[in-house]
Amino acid sequence: MARNRVQFQKGLSLNEFLRQYGSEEQCCDAVAQWRWPEGFICPFCGSDQYCQLAYRQLRQCNRCRRQTSLTAGTIFASTKLPLTTWYQAIYLITQDKKGISAMELHRHLGISYNAAWRLKHKLMQVMLERDQNKPLSGFIEIDDAYLGGERSGGKVGRGAEGKTPFLAAVQTTDQSQPVKIKLTVIKGFRSDELLEWSRRHLTPDSTVISDGLACFNAVTEAGCEHDRIVCGGGRASVEEPELHWVNTILGNLKSALRGTYHAVRPKYAQRYLSEFEYRFNRRFNLVNLLPRLIYVALRTPPMPEKLLKIGLV
Ligand SMILES: [Zn+2]
Repeated sequence: MARNRVQFQKGLSLNEFLRQYGSEEQCCDAVAQWRWPEGFICPFCGSDQYCQLAYRQLRQCNRCRRQTSLTAGTIFASTKLPLTTWYQAIYLITQDKKGISAMELHRHLGISYNAAWRLKHKLMQVMLERDQNKPLSGFIEIDDAYLGGERSGGKVGRGAEGKTPFLAAVQTTDQSQPVKIKLTVIKGFRSDELLEWSRRHLTPDSTVISDGLACFNAVTEAGCEHDRIVCGGGRASVEEPELHWVNTILGNLKSALRGTYHAVRPKYAQRYLSEFEYRFNRRFNLVNLLPRLIYVALRTPPMPEKLLKIGLV
């Protein structure tokens, strides 16, 4: 039997990770390299002459004498954790297919639960901001889905109380292989919401395949073709070959979330979806996940705890 090339690819081994990023100096040097690929330039006067202070975390300009922190203005700003801890967290988050919870990070990294929670949510925010402006194009399967709200006594299915509605979309090749996905929390399955979503996340002229839910017709107003598959809904829709990938990915998402997290609070739902999306869309390159995530984290503005806790809904 042919081996699945996603499952059997070589990841970043623990040994290799420790060899490259085992010390604070190595982590600082790598951050400096990714932050200033053309070399350090003083943000105040533009000089490239500097000296390093305080364990490489600060650079002092030789001309204007002002200091620049390695992580100021990035998602790592004002962290009390050493960079080695951030790297270890990013290693655990990126190399485990199902993800890792704040509680597990707290245990593995030996930091407080609150520090682990902040770190985890900051990194999920990086993933969210990275992919939000990359539209899908070509053939796209879409479906409605819900997170949470599975307490006993609740209604089942569309519109159930306490659930967070989100839209799942999968771009496929002409040969029906999945390319990338987009998972977006929306206010509800209404035409206006779908139109806004389509304008933002789909390239016009794409072909959208969905089930019979009426609001999906709104994609045509955004310039897309719409193939509507009328099926029985519920479990029966899983059998529809036209919606095979969106249903498979929703199944994987739900088991990953169930296996890793106790509960996903509605106001943080988009971050959890974005984390799954980010990892899925980069599934062919496990080795590069760590440097790429740090690279974009260095280009994501700071997110103080207060802002982090406002959430997104
Ligand atoms: Zn300067």
